[in-house]
Amino acid sequence: MDSVLIDRPHAAAGVKLVRARDELRAILAAERAAGRSVGLVPTMGCLHEGHLSLLRAARAGCDTVVMSLFVNPAQFGPGEDLERYPRDEARDAELAGESGVDLIYAPPVEEVYPDGFATTVAVGGLTEVLCGDPARRGPEHFRGVTTVVAKLLNAVQPDVAWFGRKDAQQVAVIRRMVRDLEIPVRIEALPIVREPDGLAMSSRNAYLNPADRERATALSRALREIERVAGEDTLAAALEAGRRVLAEAGVEPEYLEARDPDSLQAVADLSEGPALVAVAAQIGDARLIDNTELPADGTKSTPRADLPSRRPKQEG
Ligand code: AMP
Repeated sequence: MDSVLIDRPHAAAGVKLVRARDELRAILAAERAAGRSVGLVPTMGCLHEGHLSLLRAARAGCDTVVMSLFVNPAQFGPGEDLERYPRDEARDAELAGESGVDLIYAPPVEEVYPDGFATTVAVGGLTEVLCGDPARRGPEHFRGVTTVVAKLLNAVQPDVAWFGRKDAQQVAVIRRMVRDLEIPVRIEALPIVREPDGLAMSSRNAYLNPADRERATALSRALREIERVAGEDTLAAALEAGRRVLAEAGVEPEYLEARDPDSLQAVADLSEGPALVAVAAQIGDARLIDNTELPADGTKSTPRADLPSRRPKQEG
């Protein structure tokens, strides 16, 4: 069997690392036959508190917790950071075990994309804006994400899969894929976990030198300013105030836009509904993203029937 049991002195039970999909399927079939629910947390490793918050939620919400660990080449464009993306499987296994993960599924690239692999899953429309704009990472990035997530959902067949709102566009795209393809899984999206100074945790923060690390706080500071101004002025004024915060820090955003959290259509005014305000910027060696969600302004017009005017923070 191509698996190892990793001993963790501080954890209650061992975490099993599986590389072969057939072995994964056999283990999970037995779990399901025993009436145990299965949860999945997809990751590319280099675990930080953001990932761990998802793992803990999965531990609390399911009987058997699977974490996938796969740096997916299909979602990296030419010239992006696939080669230097940080990898430390032993550390990830240790942290996953401590967070209550039962199984790590870490397939080799050839298992996920064997010779002759020719199928992709593409979600239209909402993959072509924000990070999916062809002038930015492009829709190919999300095609890589949806293809691998579809494969992971097929391999694991979880009852629930957890994702972070740090990648809010990814959450919207995956929800749409699951809905359109009728994949029987519940998608849970959890809040962004931040460093004490507000920077959203990301594996890519490791690329920042000390000066850029300081400058990177402008992203979350701009979002906090946008939240503040949106409470008392128009959305346009709030976005303008956010742009000023970025400019003062010498950060030129790739984008700073307000969009419907589900359809990702542009939102001009909070009377139209809640808005996902998303920002991306290249800061030194790291391309960083962050976002916040502004509640609809129920005082300006009747709230839309299909969207709650104020979304509870714990909901996706
Ligand atoms: P990654 O390993 O970057 O592919 O991320 C795996 C999962 O962790 C994705 O669902 C991310 O949205 C989520 N994630 C990454 N960073 C954070 C964060 N700072 N807070 C919450 N979730 C996060």
